[in-house]
Amino acid sequence: MTDTARNADTVAASAGTDRGIDGDWVSRLADEVVVEAKRRGMDTIVCASGISPSGPVHLGNLREVITPHLVADEIKRRGIACEHIMSWDDYDRFRKVPFGVGVDESWNQHIGKPLTSVPPPPGSAHDSWAEHFKAPLVDALTRMGIEFRGISQTQQYTSGAYREQILHAMRERAHIDEVLGRYRTKAADPAAVVAGQAKKLDADQEAAAAEAAEGSGAASEDDGTAATGYYPYKPYCDVCQRDTTTVTAYDDETTALTYTCACGHGRTVLLSESNHGKLVWKVDWPMRWAYEGVVFEPSGVDHQSPGSSFVVGGQLVREIFGGERPVGPMYAFVGIKGMAKMSSSKGGVPTPAEALEIMEPAILRWLYARRKPSQSFDISFGQEIQRLYDEWDALVRKVTGDSAQPGDLAAYQRASSTAAGELARTPHPLPFRTLASVVDITTGHDDQTLRILSELDPDDPLASLDEARPRLTCAENWVDTQVAAEDRTRVRAEPDAELLTGIGESEREELRVLLEGHADPALPRLDDAWSLDGLTTQVYGVPKVLRDIEADAKLRDPELSKAQREFFKLVYRLLIGKETGPRLPTLLLAVGLDRTKALLGH
Ligand SMILES: [Zn+2]
Repeated sequence: MTDTARNADTVAASAGTDRGIDGDWVSRLADEVVVEAKRRGMDTIVCASGISPSGPVHLGNLREVITPHLVADEIKRRGIACEHIMSWDDYDRFRKVPFGVGVDESWNQHIGKPLTSVPPPPGSAHDSWAEHFKAPLVDALTRMGIEFRGISQTQQYTSGAYREQILHAMRERAHIDEVLGRYRTKAADPAAVVAGQAKKLDADQEAAAAEAAEGSGAASEDDGTAATGYYPYKPYCDVCQRDTTTVTAYDDETTALTYTCACGHGRTVLLSESNHGKLVWKVDWPMRWAYEGVVFEPSGVDHQSPGSSFVVGGQLVREIFGGERPVGPMYAFVGIKGMAKMSSSKGGVPTPAEALEIMEPAILRWLYARRKPSQSFDISFGQEIQRLYDEWDALVRKVTGDSAQPGDLAAYQRASSTAAGELARTPHPLPFRTLASVVDITTGHDDQTLRILSELDPDDPLASLDEARPRLTCAENWVDTQVAAEDRTRVRAEPDAELLTGIGESEREELRVLLEGHADPALPRLDDAWSLDGLTTQVYGVPKVLRDIEADAKLRDPELSKAQREFFKLVYRLLIGKETGPRLPTLLLAVGLDRTKALLGH
């Protein structure tokens, strides 16, 4: 382990588990939640997330989970009992067949059934649609150190756990209808609200907004109004299993509920016995706030417009269920750079599991921890990920060097650890862009990769590739999946004889100095410069020493810069047949000494 990593451990450990972390949005929200829980006289604070596993749960929906996670985690760090519950809205109706998840239009026949009653895509290891999309998210959350108690709403409804609440809501249906009526005229189209709040949505953001609405409860669900009267409960049909039902009569005394279904079936059931249906979303959500005693639950902008479920729910929880609305900040959408392109080609927005293929868990946490929920941001799977790793490494250096600002330090601590301990980290973290270049060139040959990575810094070599993982694995996955074939680097098999013959005398001299060195000003032979630092000085030094400038001199000279660029182009062309490529020192290490010499004509 490097000193950097060791120091980082110490800093994170010193965050402690009884006093929390200061100075960021998470600690301020936690303050508010703790005060609210005290006012309510609660022993264990409940923070909640709700996820509808209606398709791949994407990175935008991760904010629904990670915001309560961070707040709950901060409360736990303070030594206060706290639980993060995850409501799986898997009893929601299957609304549409998502594109690109490997099912054909025959799945249309399942629209209207509970997500747990829809078969999974072909080849799935899971029993249902809901389980199929839940499982990879649970796995990703575990890898990110996010602890929660999952609550299946299918389990809750079908076991009769909400029986009293349902019967109560039916008795109070006129009251509920009246509350909803206060907002119906103010209700706005969720898409218009989103557009109004986040002006100038580009194609990527619009796609993200649409996807987020799909995965975060029932944005478009009806509120129970029908020509036959207002009923806050919707049965699933006993014949076709769909919710294409209409309640036509209800008797408060006997709890006899009569419904008809679009399939032609019609029936009377006793609500005191039947467990085959659910409260409509706008009533279901506040019912559960009261049932679980939720003190903190954020929601997306689509849920917080006038007449939206969060606002109406605040009235219903108090007037109908005798509970209180949670502290619930609005969170902005997370955009994915290049998503519009991905959506049309792959049919989906990246999921947390896909992000973890190319990002260390701490870095993925950091993206969310460092910004207030109200700030939107983009996640890039493209070239920018290299800068993201650079920024993270710079933060780690600041933290270990004791020069991090309080806000930066807090974000670092929340990213790299939880109240339960440290997240797994890469023992020997090398720069991501270097790893990506090396992987690109070696095309994943482990022996060659280990040789090159060990030569980067001969004073601190890698004993095995495992020391560079999981970051190295992330770089491998990124190069495999995100770097276009035409951007890959292919080292020439044979020297470019034509180019070598055609170059001028000065270029020939540059190549000779690169390989054999220079006496005064001094530059070593290439063999003796064989490390990342050594080669950096070497390649920049060649045009310098040929102009009587010391190789390590720091100066700005446009003429010299131009000469360096021309020289690099020549070397790139000779090594990989292109004028640009990975950073030259990395490329040289990757190509290896003997092959470099051969390709440069010696
Ligand atoms: Zn039916």
